[in-house]
Amino acid sequence: MVDTASYKVAVIGAGPAGLMAAQVLTEAGLKITLFDAKPSAGRKFLQAGKGGLNLTHAEDFTLFTSRYFEAESFLRPALDNFSPDTMRLWAKELGFETFVGSSGKVYPLDKKAAPLLRTWIHKIKANKSEFKMKHRLIAFEDDTWQFETPEGIKKYTFDAVVLALGGASWPQLGATGAWTKILLEKGLQINPLKPANMGFNVKWSPIFREKFAGTPLKNVTLSFTDTHGTLHSQLGELLISDYGVQGSLIYTYSKFLRENIEKKAPTTLYLDLFAHKSEQKLVAQLSAQQGKQSLSAFWKRMGLSGVRASLLREVLSKESLKNPELVAQKLKNFPLKLDSYRPIEEAISTAGGLAFDNLDENLMLKKFPGLFCVGEMLDWEAPTGGYLLTGVMAQGKQAAEGLLKFIHKKKI
Ligand SMILES: Cc1cc2nc3c(=O)[nH]c(=O)nc-3n(C[C@H](O)[C@H](O)[C@H](O)COP(=O)(O)OP(=O)(O)OC[C@H]3O[C@@H](n4cnc5c(N)ncnc54)[C@H](O)[C@@H]3O)c2cc1C
Repeated sequence: MVDTASYKVAVIGAGPAGLMAAQVLTEAGLKITLFDAKPSAGRKFLQAGKGGLNLTHAEDFTLFTSRYFEAESFLRPALDNFSPDTMRLWAKELGFETFVGSSGKVYPLDKKAAPLLRTWIHKIKANKSEFKMKHRLIAFEDDTWQFETPEGIKKYTFDAVVLALGGASWPQLGATGAWTKILLEKGLQINPLKPANMGFNVKWSPIFREKFAGTPLKNVTLSFTDTHGTLHSQLGELLISDYGVQGSLIYTYSKFLRENIEKKAPTTLYLDLFAHKSEQKLVAQLSAQQGKQSLSAFWKRMGLSGVRASLLREVLSKESLKNPELVAQKLKNFPLKLDSYRPIEEAISTAGGLAFDNLDENLMLKKFPGLFCVGEMLDWEAPTGGYLLTGVMAQGKQAAEGLLKFIHKKKI
């Protein structure tokens, strides 16, 4: 173990990225100070628990790392060092077994974040770290770090610091993106923060919105072409909302759909609303004798009702609804026009941020040796599915180990 008694180290930002850095540093014998602007640590982590706390994903590792898009190669060393298996082991060592859900997503057995977070913080505190909450970083100069606190401005000096300040989604949980101003003033390259894993606006008719906001649309295949001309197509589930659409199938492609909209709005994606039935079969069913039944009753007999039937009414005239070929064609290739994307404050995560070019392989700023940056504040994105937590915690570990190497090098 490195003799680190003389080193003053801080982790600023107590989300999962900062907490993981704090765990690694304290386990190595460092006494650290952990700061956060909020009164308590890990608020977004707790929020993630409301959805079951999807820690990671059990799919093939090559597929797993591809979920980080262009950031894959830069993040690969961190993900090799903290893989989905390591994540599961980490939870187990804290006393929380995990399980793989039907979709491959990995959760703690109780699907709760609070007990795990409590145990995690307890473990870090037991290693003699000091938690300073309600400390908002507002500036730094050389080794002096300035915080806004309820008692006024406070200054601290440190030899090495890990910044883990998060992105800008759900700002009420602590990460506001205000750090961009501090780091821009230092001449660092920061790419604009944008929403990731967000919903999209669709102009529903008032009747459709009122009736179907909150309704899931299951077993649909979503298809679209991205800005590079690549066709994407996947079966899944989305959620109709009052403003448009959201949900896992939308989030999987939120990066590409955002890019499409930035290039040219609106963008149209296509839904196969009867993914398990051929167009031919649908035409045959729709061409059967309707008799005295109403159109709705006739459709209902072939399983066409509720949100699917009403979607048709959103795009076809009354006359066209009686045309089997036209109806079948729309059911198999329903055009969904996305006008714009929802604001970052509503998004699950953040794209953009501190560019990787600023950092070395240990996530240390090349311009400021001894200063490391991790988590959602860096310029990368990934869909939902456990990739976000694995990504930020892998970076926390990578930077903490880099910091230990940095200290060791300074001592010899
Ligand atoms: C509703 C929701 C559900 C989610 N569910 C999942 C899920 O199931 N699985 C998954 O993988 N991911 C999920 N995520 C995403 C995941 O929670 C985030 O990616 C992750 O928390 C980011 O970690 P982080 O440590 O980088 O940032 P954060 O968790 O945002 O932590 C940053 C910390 O820095 C502090 N801070 C910010 N600025 C300052 C400052 N100036 N001074 C001091 N402190 C500051 C903040 O208060 C905060 O505590 C979810 C997100 C949301 C919003």
